Amino acid sequence: MSEKILEIENLTVSFDGFKAINNLNFSMNAGELRVVIGPNGAGKTTFMDVITGKTKPTTGQVTFKGKNLRPYAEHQIARMGIGRKFQTPRVYQKLTPRENLELSCAASKNVFASLLGRPAAGERRTIAGLLETIGLVPKADILAELLSHGEKQRLEIGMLVAQSPDLLLVDEPVAGLTDEETENVGSLLLALAESHSIMVIEHDMEFVRQIARKVTVLHQGTVLCEGTMDEIQNDPKVIEVYLGTEETEHVE
Ligand code: ADP
Ligand code: MG
Repeated sequence: MSEKILEIENLTVSFDGFKAINNLNFSMNAGELRVVIGPNGAGKTTFMDVITGKTKPTTGQVTFKGKNLRPYAEHQIARMGIGRKFQTPRVYQKLTPRENLELSCAASKNVFASLLGRPAAGERRTIAGLLETIGLVPKADILAELLSHGEKQRLEIGMLVAQSPDLLLVDEPVAGLTDEETENVGSLLLALAESHSIMVIEHDMEFVRQIARKVTVLHQGTVLCEGTMDEIQNDPKVIEVYLGTEETEHVE
């Protein structure tokens, strides 16, 4: 039996009575790469906000590695091993990719070594190894502000990995990227999925096709259906609520 890294039961999040998340149930195994899709307003970002502790459930609970997260603050949940990558890159522009990665490693070392007894430095990926994984060896020592948008996204994913989270949450990593950069980010996430548990929120369908194994479709704050890309695409409910709106979403 696979170990559950994340379990969400009967989760509801109300904003002044409006249920952005409505009695949602979800679970994810350790080691899984899960893609969560859904039209605008489906509740995807709120879903991530609840997992990371930014927003607290109105009712229901989120369990991470067997622990109910309700009592913990956002920074404590991050320390427990949930790492989040926001949609827009947040790299230090005036530092190089190598320096950005060094900072992430150093930050995690202090926190993890003292509080959680994480693996020793030698067991973590080295900076050089990370640069290779994210494909930035040739640009390791130029200022990050000179990187393309896609390169910055990859750098930020590398910075997340440098903190050795047990679960990586990635919010719309390819929004605004060229096709080539999108494919590079997809390949990176697939490579990382070999050794990490990853949840990707996305509504670029081409990209989802590239990386998807199991897909969860959110709609009106609840799980509409789950399955492989083929199953999802042939589900009449999905066609109606999600794929039917794809055209308009791409225009915005
Ligand atoms: P998605 O990321 O799937 O587009 P969101 O999680 O951002 O959806 O939003 C889901 C719904 O909840 C939307 O209708 C949005 O307007 C509403 N919502 C999100 N955050 C708040 C908030 N802080 N206050 C009120 N309504 C919110
Ligand atoms: Mg969103």
